[in-house]
Amino acid sequence: MKNNFIFLAATLSVLSFNSCTDKDGSINIFPVSKDMELGAQVSAQIESDPATYPLIPLTGGNNARAHDYLNAIVDKIKASGKLDYKDEFAWKVRIIRDDNTLNAFCTPGGYIYVYTGLIKYLDKADHLAGVMGHEMGHADHRHSTDAMTRDFGVQTLLDIVLGKSSQGTLVQMAANLASLKYSRGNESEADDSSVDYLGGTGYACSGAAGFFEKLIADGQNPQVPQFLSTHPNPDNRVAAIHAKATVNGCSETYSSGESDFAQFKSDLNL
Ligand SMILES: [Zn+2]
Repeated sequence: MKNNFIFLAATLSVLSFNSCTDKDGSINIFPVSKDMELGAQVSAQIESDPATYPLIPLTGGNNARAHDYLNAIVDKIKASGKLDYKDEFAWKVRIIRDDNTLNAFCTPGGYIYVYTGLIKYLDKADHLAGVMGHEMGHADHRHSTDAMTRDFGVQTLLDIVLGKSSQGTLVQMAANLASLKYSRGNESEADDSSVDYLGGTGYACSGAAGFFEKLIADGQNPQVPQFLSTHPNPDNRVAAIHAKATVNGCSETYSSGESDFAQFKSDLNL
């Protein structure tokens, strides 16, 4: 069975030479100007491998409406004014048809991928918006390039941007991205960002917590990845997300988009 999940992990690159500072003050040796190019290369690899990543076409049937629905969530998050790289990154979203995989991930530079298994699992638009905010947070804080630099080395990443890498490296890179291990600190930061982004969107700003609450209630569900019990503990994540919402003073009331969310699922035959 595939390793079913998202909220995975990375340690910060602690290299001290030739590094640059992100807008949020963290150090990342990979230049931010290259994030989009790296993401575009990995994204192209994903789109060229339908056996591994069966992407739902952008048009045909109700597909356009389904993508419009996700793009509207992305647009609301972008309109929060809380993204450091709102204009620099791509922020494009695609859906992967795999009803059994509870996953979503985002490449450097903002190419977002959501599995139908995750959409099917979620009960509320607010949960989905919360998870998307979390994934966009990883890209906006450049956690993904931190982690990829750790896993592959900065030269390999730069070779990809320069078109000097092999197809095999890109294949490996894409696979690594879908199960990237982020540090606990990165996960907490992405959770916090989700709350920041959703405030004022009309979605419950703690929407991501609702997702974890469902995972906790479903503790015996074999699709729930084991690492969620420790990385960080989901109870702690739920508490931290609600605490952040209280600090932000943002609304935790669920949006009234029930019928739209049901339509969205129906459009995807979920
Ligand atoms: Zn995460």
